[in-house]
Amino acid sequence: MEKNLQKIIKGYQIFREKYASGDSSIMYNLYREGQQPAILVIACCDARVDPALILQCDPGDLFVVRNVANIVPPYEKDKTHHGTSAALEFGICLLQVQHLIILGHSQCGGIKAFLSKKESKQDDFITNWIALLPALPSLPCSSDAYAKLSLNQSYANCLTFPWIQEKVLKQQLTIHRWFFDIPTGSIYTYHAVQDAYVPLA
Ligand SMILES: [Zn+2]
Repeated sequence: MEKNLQKIIKGYQIFREKYASGDSSIMYNLYREGQQPAILVIACCDARVDPALILQCDPGDLFVVRNVANIVPPYEKDKTHHGTSAALEFGICLLQVQHLIILGHSQCGGIKAFLSKKESKQDDFITNWIALLPALPSLPCSSDAYAKLSLNQSYANCLTFPWIQEKVLKQQLTIHRWFFDIPTGSIYTYHAVQDAYVPLA
């Protein structure tokens, strides 16, 4: 069997052993009680940025939405198909998570594609999706700095959803902007008073 597939099947066996063996397993308890995650994470599809792995979570801990460049689109209630907005609605209104983490990261391919403006051979959806990223700053900026600007835009877009705005105002929901640095594996969190990203404790 192909090596990559062998690796994940081995992983699946370890997962079953650790989380799904016996009636008192985490999976069986989650089956009986249903999911009740307290945290929703919006992360990029990037293979290096898996929230559950980075944060060492158990099944059931995180409600995760992943899309190219971890973008929160603005609230647009129309007849098109809004996968990220539907997931936000499910997590925030029905599961009632208390924290929403927008997790950006360094070396983001979606951000780099937006900044390079290079035409890609294959582009049925990508350019239209990343057009949601904020306008380019007047001064040149690195892709990582721009990824942080984009977190600010996603944060602002969150507040265009009436039910997110209401929960934030009632202090039932806190929105966090986190930035994951790939080479060091470090997370930086946006600090409103300092208006800067500081290491996550
Ligand atoms: Zn990315």
